[in-house]
Amino acid sequence: MTPGCFSLDLVPDPFIVLEENACVMDINRSGSELLGDTREALIGRHFSEIASLGIFSDKVAEAIRNKVEDFDLVVFKGKHHEVFILPFRTSAGTELLRIVIKDISNFVSLEKELLKKNRELIIINTLSKTFISSENLDLVMENVLEKVLLITDFSVGWLMLRNDDASFQIRAHKGLSADFLNTIEHGGIESLCSGICVMNEPLHVIESYDIVRNDVLRRAEITFLAAVPLAYDGEASAPGILFLARHGESENGLSFELASLLRLVGNHVSMILDKIRLFQETRRLSVTDGLTGLYNSRYFYQYLDREVARSNRYGSSFSLILFDIDNFKQLNDSCGHQAGDEVLHEIARIFRGISRETDVVVRYGGEEFIIILPNTKADETMYLADRIRAAVERHVFLVNHGYGVNITMSGGIASFPENAGDVKSLLNAADVSMYMAKTQGRNRVICSRGMHNEKT
Ligand code: GH3
Ligand code: MG
Ligand code: MG
Repeated sequence: MTPGCFSLDLVPDPFIVLEENACVMDINRSGSELLGDTREALIGRHFSEIASLGIFSDKVAEAIRNKVEDFDLVVFKGKHHEVFILPFRTSAGTELLRIVIKDISNFVSLEKELLKKNRELIIINTLSKTFISSENLDLVMENVLEKVLLITDFSVGWLMLRNDDASFQIRAHKGLSADFLNTIEHGGIESLCSGICVMNEPLHVIESYDIVRNDVLRRAEITFLAAVPLAYDGEASAPGILFLARHGESENGLSFELASLLRLVGNHVSMILDKIRLFQETRRLSVTDGLTGLYNSRYFYQYLDREVARSNRYGSSFSLILFDIDNFKQLNDSCGHQAGDEVLHEIARIFRGISRETDVVVRYGGEEFIIILPNTKADETMYLADRIRAAVERHVFLVNHGYGVNITMSGGIASFPENAGDVKSLLNAADVSMYMAKTQGRNRVICSRGMHNEKT
């Protein structure tokens, strides 16, 4: 190299100089390495004849014609490159073209990695928000499915949860034909679901030959089906499955990125299910009585306030029955406290069996129970109360491993607004009537008469 003379080899990136006729005037070492030929063989060749550069020969021709810079992104030998096409004029007035090629594969993979991380963050963020925004399981499921489809580029999906009897129920769906929906609603893929759940894998792709052999999936023209089991913490078999499907000839493979994305989705949706379940369980426990499973007094007061407000708004009536077990202390004394508990448990079962769906059955205190009957007047309430009283009277309660005892109850009925204008007065009215039933000989129900207030 002559001192003071610049060699193209000093440029680390592939560098090509073209003459105005688009023939190679010079090329540096990394350029000839990239194009896979010697410098000598490349010099003088027309740009369009060099196979690997032919893809942007139009751009080169345009740049030579208009003397404007251009830029392109190309893949050479499996690597991503940026190509700069830069016209310039020498001091002698010759028009030349520089082509600089930069290997940007590292940036591309970095960008992909960032996009993937970004996607994961979007999933975590959107799914967490879904849970925070609602405690209603069905709403959450719909929301989750919608977000998952958006994130994963699937257009068809459905979510199934296992019932107590081990059957699977569809809870959210998108993109399903009415026929397919109807089939799976009636247990059409039940065995597929059970099989997936016991496999205990974070992601299961149903093989194409299994899809073809499955009448239901084949008829729905599903060509790709991924199942993401949704597991509760600490449970061996998943209580739910998220299905993501494709139809027709679209892309049917499962890339590594998509697989890891689906596992991440499964993990988060499972977490959401688990939290909702815990939340619902905690809420259920906070309003129910541990011994009988009936509502507790805390729930009762909340409900009663709402019922009074509803009656006031719609001008309707409701009634309540207060029951107290007769001589319960004697039973405790003679058979033991445990036997007393067994009786309370059994009485609750009788109450639940006879009362209606809409009635609210409460364990009000130790051996006192209240039933609220919405939209029910005193006479109808009297009929139900006496049926319950008679059922308890007839029942033989087996305590202490098979020892039979009989129990009776006394009840008082009060109706709103017929007997009281507020909650306290209503309870007082029922209590007064129940006390009258006790004093009149027990094992009977008495209905309040007239208007009561708190102190009467
Ligand atoms: P009465 O006919 O006048 O109602 O007589 P009683 O003996 O039932 O009297 P009262 O209703 O005042 O007594 C309630 C008794 O119920 C007192 C208590 O020993 C018993 N008791 C309250 N809660 C429980 C409970 O959770 N388990 C058991 N085994 N007994 C309870
Ligand atoms: Mg009592
Ligand atoms: Mg009692």
